[in-house]
Amino acid sequence: ENEESKKNLPFHEMEIDERILKAIAKLGWIQPTLIQERGIPLLLEGKDLLARGRTGSGKTGAFSIPLIQRILDIKGKNDGSLTQAVRGVVLCPSRELARQTTQVLNALANSCVGIIRIVDIGAKDVSAVKPLLKDLPDIIVGTPGRLAQHIKEKNVDLSVSLEVLIIDEADLIFSFGFEADIRYILENLPPIYQAVLTSATLSDDVERLKKLVLNNPVILKLSEPDLPDSSQLTQYMFKLEEEEKYVLIYALFKLQLVRGRTIIFVSTDRKSVV
Ligand code: AMP
Repeated sequence: ENEESKKNLPFHEMEIDERILKAIAKLGWIQPTLIQERGIPLLLEGKDLLARGRTGSGKTGAFSIPLIQRILDIKGKNDGSLTQAVRGVVLCPSRELARQTTQVLNALANSCVGIIRIVDIGAKDVSAVKPLLKDLPDIIVGTPGRLAQHIKEKNVDLSVSLEVLIIDEADLIFSFGFEADIRYILENLPPIYQAVLTSATLSDDVERLKKLVLNNPVILKLSEPDLPDSSQLTQYMFKLEEEEKYVLIYALFKLQLVRGRTIIFVSTDRKSVV
């Protein structure tokens, strides 16, 4: 690597539209993260990308910024003949991740109101989403299961219009059992589109998907020295009844079975333990 490529490339020196730059500033993102600095210029060039990046790396921004830019470019060149269509798809392993990704996309498209519309097909039931898809949003975000279902029911047709496919956390998508849905979706896409895969690990499943979806991709393996390697992580799972949770967590701390600083992830803070 030469010195030139190590120089920090700020957002405003990338080929990013003013409206997106404004949204980035509003989010308080001052410097791009490593994956953004390396990934955004490649994606703006139209390259396919495989990015090894965990949650926390800034990967959502890394694929969302070029996706919005691409749609702004297409719509900006419109001489009146352009028809509204679904041009971007982001596949996520869970509805919760789809919701979070939609939030980031909406924040980045905040200054593009009336130009870019994003629909999360994750949370709402299939029939509630159907009319939203009829309006042909520019970007749809959701799980492979939901998208496959909408394609089957002919609520959405991507076979001509799709320009960019993003498969986020591909390893999780496989471990959540979405393989058949992914295959079905791929069979219903146009022959050429830009594709992005993100994955924390490169499992055999991801390798296969890479061969299936990506065309001559750039592979970004970014070292993240601040994060522990997965070999340093130990995971346990307890299957518990509601009431047992309190006893368990009390015991874990009282008996000092968990040492050092602790972060507890919960779905709601309405039920306080302490
Ligand atoms: P992600 O890895 O995409 O899930 O992002 C992790 C967190 O980093 C999110 O809370 C983002 O809002 C935040 N983030 C992403 N990019 C930047 C940036 N360039 N500067 C500061 N924070 C960022």
